Amino acid sequence: MTAETFVIVGASLAGGKAAETLREEGFDGRLVLIGAETEPPYERPPLSKGYLTGADERSVAFLHEPAWYAEHDIDWRPGTAAVGLDLQTRTLALHPTDTLSYDRLLIATGSAVRTLDIPGSDLDGVRYLRTLDQADALLAAFRRAEPVVVIGAGWIGLETAAAARGHGCPVTVAEMASLPLQRVLGDEVATVYRDLHVAHGVDFRFGAGIGEFRGSNGAVAAVVLADGTELPATTVVVGVGIRPVTDLASSAGLQVDNGIVTDTHLRTSDPFVYACGDVACSFNPLLGRHLRVEHWANALNGGPAAARAMLGGTQDYAPVPYFFSDQYDLGMEYSGWVAPGEYDRVVFRGDPTVGDSGAPEFLAFWMRGEAVLAGMNANIWDVNEDIAELVKAGHAGRSVDPAKLVDPGVALPDTLA
Ligand SMILES: Cc1cc2nc3c(=O)[nH]c(=O)nc-3n(C[C@H](O)[C@H](O)[C@H](O)COP(=O)(O)OP(=O)(O)OC[C@H]3O[C@@H](n4cnc5c(N)ncnc54)[C@H](O)[C@@H]3O)c2cc1C
Repeated sequence: MTAETFVIVGASLAGGKAAETLREEGFDGRLVLIGAETEPPYERPPLSKGYLTGADERSVAFLHEPAWYAEHDIDWRPGTAAVGLDLQTRTLALHPTDTLSYDRLLIATGSAVRTLDIPGSDLDGVRYLRTLDQADALLAAFRRAEPVVVIGAGWIGLETAAAARGHGCPVTVAEMASLPLQRVLGDEVATVYRDLHVAHGVDFRFGAGIGEFRGSNGAVAAVVLADGTELPATTVVVGVGIRPVTDLASSAGLQVDNGIVTDTHLRTSDPFVYACGDVACSFNPLLGRHLRVEHWANALNGGPAAARAMLGGTQDYAPVPYFFSDQYDLGMEYSGWVAPGEYDRVVFRGDPTVGDSGAPEFLAFWMRGEAVLAGMNANIWDVNEDIAELVKAGHAGRSVDPAKLVDPGVALPDTLA
């Protein structure tokens, strides 16, 4: 029998972990890992945290040394993009050149930043943060300790603001909404993040539309808000969200709806093609809906899950969605999933107030009735698995005892009614 060829498009966390798992699980056919970037697969969280603050070396981001791929007989093709996909002949077209046939294909093309197209967008110093080289450029800019304006108070915007403050840059954050992270967290916990950044000297401008970037000699000098306010800056970080990179899939005719649609085995509408990580919108049986999750854990675990499915595994991929963030001295983990308007209140265990003595320690739970739909542990550790169990129970319709939930003396598993 001829050895099979498995191809992975997208050589980042999801694609890299899938390749690793295929070899660990004993796949001994031809394995090709195609990556548009020239760096070996890396994780992105350090780009807005340890690496950007200067605490960690650049090397912390990489999954493996470059040589590891050849050592494991993985044909890693850096600087190569898949530009065409023919589902009938099971063939990929590559750029700059080549075609490649596959027996199984995994699409792990991730996300790309949304860009702002306004006057001055092309000025030097207007930056985005998705890739390592963009993090290199930002780190060099922050080290000059000059004024920074961050556009968008989402996770990337806030972590970047925290890193810039750490380098001594004066930082202004301009945001359309009335609080940071308002849509993801709701007002109760969004307030904590506002107060944390204000305590570290960030100047927020809420309800702010962006008019233009103004500069001189080709370099940005200020951000002009829609109301005419001018915010001086030699570095602007635009963090206005990302979009799934679905072009290859949609032009091939795969089902795409807010990401590449997959079943619980990460299989797409074509039985020989799988998708995982940021780009996949997968059916999650735990939550009873399709979900696209743009977070680290979903790439870390989704890559291996897709690899096992490509080898014929039949286990559902049914994670409790999870993400984390570190800003200043506040570290947090969030487990679960809840859309705006789908919960009726947030309850706290511990005091979330940002005080003079540093970041608070608390748990927060997003509730519908007496069911926990999502939970956050902030500066409290080794509880996120317990929280995930409460979330699983909550989505299955089980209640907790609200009095026990807010009582630090009661172990979390004992709060279930
Ligand atoms: C700065 C930053 C900080 C983050 N911090 C956190 C955090 O603290 N916590 C958290 O939970 N999540 C965080 N995330 C999100 C997390 O990094 C992503 O969820 C994760 O990177 C998704 O991995 P992925 O492999 O699916 O996709 P990506 O990381 O987007 O990688 C996709 C890869 O595919 C390549 N590609 C795309 N199209 C093609 C093609 N046609 N041919 C070949 N290659 C292609 C791209 O170049 C890219 O290298 C952060 C993200 C960023 C950018």
